[in-house]
Parts: sequence; C-alpha cells; structure tokens
Amino acid sequence: MDVKVLGSAAGGGFPQWNCACQNCQGLRSGQIRSKARTQAQVAVRDSGSAWLLLNASPDLREQILSTPELAPVHFPRSTGISSVILTSAEVDSVVGLLHLREFQPFRVFATPSVKRILFEENRIFRVLERAKPPVIWEDIPQESWFSVGSAGNGNGLRCRAVNLGGGHPDYVSDALRSSLLPEEAVIGLVFTDGKKQMMYAPSLSGQGDEWKTWARSSELCFLDGTFWNDRELIDAGIGSKTAREIGHIPLSGRNGLLEQFNDAGKARRVLIHLNNTNPVLDEDSDQHRDVRNRGWEIAYDATDFNL
Ligand SMILES: [Zn+2]
Repeated sequence: MDVKVLGSAAGGGFPQWNCACQNCQGLRSGQIRSKARTQAQVAVRDSGSAWLLLNASPDLREQILSTPELAPVHFPRSTGISSVILTSAEVDSVVGLLHLREFQPFRVFATPSVKRILFEENRIFRVLERAKPPVIWEDIPQESWFSVGSAGNGNGLRCRAVNLGGGHPDYVSDALRSSLLPEEAVIGLVFTDGKKQMMYAPSLSGQGDEWKTWARSSELCFLDGTFWNDRELIDAGIGSKTAREIGHIPLSGRNGLLEQFNDAGKARRVLIHLNNTNPVLDEDSDQHRDVRNRGWEIAYDATDFNL
C-alpha cells in the first residue's frame, strides 16, 4: 500500500491568509522553525493501481499539480485518480470536488447523509454530473468492509468506516439536519490490502473508543492533531468555542489524545490536520518535543509512506 500526504494542515492551512497568530506571523517572518502546510489531503493506493483521494481539500488543484504521480498520462484527458472517499461534509473535506469538475468521470464514496447534504442543499456539486459518463456516487455502508478498487483493474484495497462521533457541519439547515443520521456525520477510514492496514481519522470528537481498536491494529494511523489545548482558540483571541465543542479532542490535558492513545500497540502514529495555532508546528517548542518524545510523528506535506 502506498500512502501520500499531500496536505497536513487543518482548515485555513498554515499560514492562514487572515491569521496573525504567533505561529502564522512567526512563519511569515522566519522567526520560528517550521514549514508551511496546505490543507489536509491524503492519497492511497494498492501498489501499482489507481489512487484514491481521502477527502477533497480546498487546495486540491495545487496538491495534484505538485505530485507527478497524479499527472495524466493518456492523451487527451486522463487521470490516475479513480475515486474520492469523503469522511464528512465539512467544507474542508468537500470543496476540492469542484477542482475535479473538468468533465472527468470518477467515483465518490460518501455516507448517505453526506451525499444528501451535497445534493439537496448545495446544487453546485451537480457540476460533476456533466462528465460523460457522470461521476458515480457510492454509499459508504456502516460496519462492513467495501471494495474501493477501480472496476476491473484488480485493485485489492478494501475500506471500512468507523463512527467517530461529531456532528454535521453548521451550514446544514435545521430541516435537513433533523432527517440525517448523526452516525453518518464524521467517519474515520480503515484500509487494508489483505496484509497491511492503515487508518485515517483527522477529526476525533472524543466520543467512543471503537477507533482505538482499529488504530491499534493498523501499521500506520493518521490521527487528529488539530489543537494542542482545549481552549486554544479562546486563548488566542480567535474564537469562543473549545476544541471539543467543535469536534476535536485536544492533544494535551486530561483525557486528551496523547493520554488516550499512549498505548498504540504496533501502530505508527502520525498527527495530521494541524491547526495553525497549534504550538507543535513550531519545531523548537516544548510541545513539539513532548509529542516526538512520546513516539508520535507530525505530518508534513509531500511525504510518502509505504506499507
Ligand atoms: Zn494562525
């Protein structure tokens, strides 16, 4: 299995266009040791076959252009990307679908609730139907494995959704929300090629423990590195909600991710979806050292993993 991290930051990226927090200013002025990051985007494939995109980030066009393996090879139009698998209907997970609108057929896997949000209240995504044949939408089932290989190419990857708690995005109308299933709002994804297993969970709400079993049995897991502190946005003067209130367990503190997933078994743990306010981004910070000393890795853009 090949895994590519194309983007590793949370919504807004790092630095964020309108953010003057310590990290964003520090990166612009060169006063902290860190690296710029685009918004979270991962691609995975069974070695030698077509790529699956995990979500479609707002930076997807730039991310594809900077990745030679994703370039078209057949004249006049083609792509090495067979599918997109959505973990939620959050803006940062779905906006990139509009970058893929150039009359290109592919498949989109989503829970029925996420598909309804995009189809019933956001007609702009119908632009994908102009492709001939049109983009095919497939339902992600609950609690069962499904094949994500491209038709007929022998791709052996299978995927399974893990309910992560969390809610549907705040832009969804109350009327639609009342008819959606909460367990279809935010999912993690587990992939297997029959030999190795990888998990992708960039939004951990902290509800439920099922994800830990899947993460522990994986060789590689990408987990929610959005915030260091529960009050991070409040203390930075940026927002009024805690990390937990917006669906992310913080890394530090009682019952934070570092404490909750200290015993990772064989899993290689990589933090992804890092918000630009998170002090772990500063490679000279105590928090960065703390995370690394505990055996966690921190995702960077344009890095490869092979399982
Ligand atoms: Zn910032």
